[in-house]
Amino acid sequence: ARRADNGGIVVIGLGRFGCHLAGSLNRMNHEVLAIDRSPTKVQRWSAQLDRVVQADSTEEGALRQLGIAGFGRAVVAIGASVEASVLTVLALVELGVPQIWARATSQKHAKILASVGAHHVIFPEAETGERLAHLIVSRLLDFI
Ligand code: ATP
Repeated sequence: ARRADNGGIVVIGLGRFGCHLAGSLNRMNHEVLAIDRSPTKVQRWSAQLDRVVQADSTEEGALRQLGIAGFGRAVVAIGASVEASVLTVLALVELGVPQIWARATSQKHAKILASVGAHHVIFPEAETGERLAHLIVSRLLDFI
């Protein structure tokens, strides 16, 4: 296995959000390691991303084997399963990843993520909706 580099970014969960995040980082020439437990998802993205591996991210041992401890940043993009997202953050904390970003789907989910040690909690749907609202209003003003 290739030696993980501290500038690398781990993206966990290749759903609609995670795949766009991983793709953008990849296009920005960052070293991205994408992880998903679904073999179908892994196969689907392996042509577009440099490194895509199949693993259950709630398993600390599996993450350790992949060399995740050597990465500087990780993003937990899992949304639907609060349990999987929380256990993944916990595993990343145990491995000592210095910058953990985690996606929350509710305020309670966000609280749990922060309390287990996520450094940044994000709400992609809420943030996109808010940005779009501003964009629509400002565009509208252009035509009045
Ligand atoms: P999106 O809105 O981004 O599509 P979602 O909430 O609809 O996300 P999720 O069920 O959160 O979808 O799953 C996002 C991805 O995370 C899926 O591809 C899923 O296979 C993956 N995933 C879920 N649990 C784990 C896990 N324990 N380990 C690795 N990957 C996982």
